[in-house]
Amino acid sequence: MKPITGWMVALSFLLSAGSAKIHAAEKLWKAGVARMEITPTEPLWLAGYATRDKPAEGKLMPLWIKTLALEDADGHRAVILTSDTLGIPQAMHQNVCARLKQKFQLEPEQIILSASHTHCGPVLRGALYDMYPLDDQQRSMIDKYSAELEAKIVETIGKALADLSPARLAAGQGTAGFAVNRRNNSEANVPKLIEQGALKGPVDHAVPVLAVFLPDGKLKAVLFGYACHNTVMAFYQWSGDYAGFAQMALEKSHPEATALFFMGCGGDQNPLPRRKVELAERYGNMLAAAVEEVLLARPRALGPQLATRMEMISLNLGPVPTEAELEKMTNEKPESHQRWARRLLSEMKAGKPFIRSYSFPLQAWRLGDQLLITMGGEPVVDYALKFKQEFGTQTWVAGYCNDVMTYIPSLRVLKEGGYDGGGAMIPYGLPAWRWADDVEELIMNGARRLVKSQ
Ligand SMILES: [Zn+2]
Repeated sequence: MKPITGWMVALSFLLSAGSAKIHAAEKLWKAGVARMEITPTEPLWLAGYATRDKPAEGKLMPLWIKTLALEDADGHRAVILTSDTLGIPQAMHQNVCARLKQKFQLEPEQIILSASHTHCGPVLRGALYDMYPLDDQQRSMIDKYSAELEAKIVETIGKALADLSPARLAAGQGTAGFAVNRRNNSEANVPKLIEQGALKGPVDHAVPVLAVFLPDGKLKAVLFGYACHNTVMAFYQWSGDYAGFAQMALEKSHPEATALFFMGCGGDQNPLPRRKVELAERYGNMLAAAVEEVLLARPRALGPQLATRMEMISLNLGPVPTEAELEKMTNEKPESHQRWARRLLSEMKAGKPFIRSYSFPLQAWRLGDQLLITMGGEPVVDYALKFKQEFGTQTWVAGYCNDVMTYIPSLRVLKEGGYDGGGAMIPYGLPAWRWADDVEELIMNGARRLVKSQ
């Protein structure tokens, strides 16, 4: 018997949509969802801004981790966890993956731990410590919260796997226009530039949508993405920011469904103008409306075949700061730079060699005919545009997955410099001024290998 093909599944999906009948010969996906609240109960420091000077003071909305588990017709499984965090650091990813292997026989290639990059979530263990003036008490609170979060991630994934039941998957792509290239448009001028239609790119305004339907046609889950910093707000309240509002809007109009958000290549993209809760809500509603349009337009059915691939790519770090450069920085503002310089100097004096490369997670999944590429770090938008050019305009690209170690510039942005080009190495604590020149080449070649191997 010939294996069932994508178009046959599409046809049977069309024939049976809206009815409870499952075609006898039809093979289905299985899907499961689970969620847990992760809003800190203690006054932890909020992640993402060096300018904050005190811990959190209450919440605008709860923070969540949510999991979508998938199983194809051959029993191959994968899990996507989305989270209202700035980024899941490398060590936490490793701890979680080790436990998921032990408990559920899942390999890292079958696991996506993504972060919405909200700047109104908690500081996590070992992430960006040079950025904040943390005392010992804060550090121990962060350690405790991070250990609890690891346990909750494993538990939520276990619940989503236990919830696996027959489902149909469908894919589509909408658009939303609030992401602005922050390197090419000064924030203060953005309202005027919008009025004049004079904003400069590059941008990626695509809204990729994965819809998960029960066999009777009801929506069980919707996973969607957008390439834009989740930074409307910079205040002292826990919040999922625009992505939190988008998920709340979708869950309000589809009360039985779980809405999950992933960040695209938004390293150099900001939601502008910003800094008002009304704007976070408005952008969230714009994103939710884009998702609703995809659902209404009948997204294309995905055959129940899943491929998961992953490589840890060794990315080279660029020029190293000298002792004299570090000494000079210990007296210069901002204080986060002083902390970085002092820490590196003490490592230098202790004879501890600086790392010269970093193990970078890259994944390529295929759901039916839908390609999803995930990257660690904060990739600039060029990566999404290059992958779409190379692998097709329907390609989905997620950043901020499985580790957020710093920004990931394209060669263009690396050469232009600035915060996304190299400056962010300092708050992220890496011992180099920037990545080496081959950063883009290594990532592009890695993605080509992964896609080809599917
Ligand atoms: Zn960022």
